[in-house]
Amino acid sequence: MKLILLGAPGAGKGTQAEILKKKLEIPTISTGNILRAAVKNGTPTGLKAKEYMDAGKLVPDEVIIGIINDRLQEPDCANGYILDGVPRTIGQAEALDQAGVTFDHVLSIEISDAEIEERMEGRRVCSTCGAPYHIHAKPPKQEGICDSCGGVLMQRDDDRPETVRHRLEVYHSETEPLKGYYESKGILNPIPNQPTIEGTTEVIMEALKAENGELFAKLMAAEGENANMRMEKAADELTILKLKARLYDVLLGDQEENRQ
Ligand code: AMP
Repeated sequence: MKLILLGAPGAGKGTQAEILKKKLEIPTISTGNILRAAVKNGTPTGLKAKEYMDAGKLVPDEVIIGIINDRLQEPDCANGYILDGVPRTIGQAEALDQAGVTFDHVLSIEISDAEIEERMEGRRVCSTCGAPYHIHAKPPKQEGICDSCGGVLMQRDDDRPETVRHRLEVYHSETEPLKGYYESKGILNPIPNQPTIEGTTEVIMEALKAENGELFAKLMAAEGENANMRMEKAADELTILKLKARLYDVLLGDQEENRQ
């Protein structure tokens, strides 16, 4: 399954991406995390990106397109992935289209600017692995220390209030038009932000499950009784999502047969 997580900076894309990654067993690709690692390691890409990032500006499309095209070639992307924070401009979306990359769902987390400004103040990120935290909504077990890798938690430079306001402006002018872009492809799922992280995850899973109902019917038609037996066993959401991956194999197989 190939997903895009869309939403303003601070909407909770990174947090939801980490949860979905475990549920769906596919990797999360965050261009923000890749760029922060590049800055930390002082690579040529990092040196180029740093001034844009510190100012809350978007890194130029050609840099992002290079990063994402390379990352999608890696073997762990074979069964799908969750893109977090990319594409962020129509130019990046068109470049993905041109590279033949298609998506199943674009999950757009909807939240007001006022709420974002309030919550960014408490946001922290692991300086080693990039895992996201919040001092109130998602505190680490030990203050200031990452639960996953023991790294030190820090506040990002671009979470300062004036930078946050600028990033929101950039989001509305550059990134929000992607909603219309993907709506016209029929794959946009608006996800109203919920008071809790778990609540938002639930809305996302419901949206994915609703789609999978239709896919079940197609799977049955494609595979007859075998599919019926598998469906009976498909008791939980995760199994449903794995069946979807299997359906793609079946459909792709059909296409191959038709071609021969
Ligand atoms: P994020 O962690 O996704 O909020 O990204 C942090 C910063 O990295 C952004 O404010 C941008 O400067 C840069 N960045 C990350 N992803 C992209 C992207 N897809 N396009 C342009 N700039 C990006």
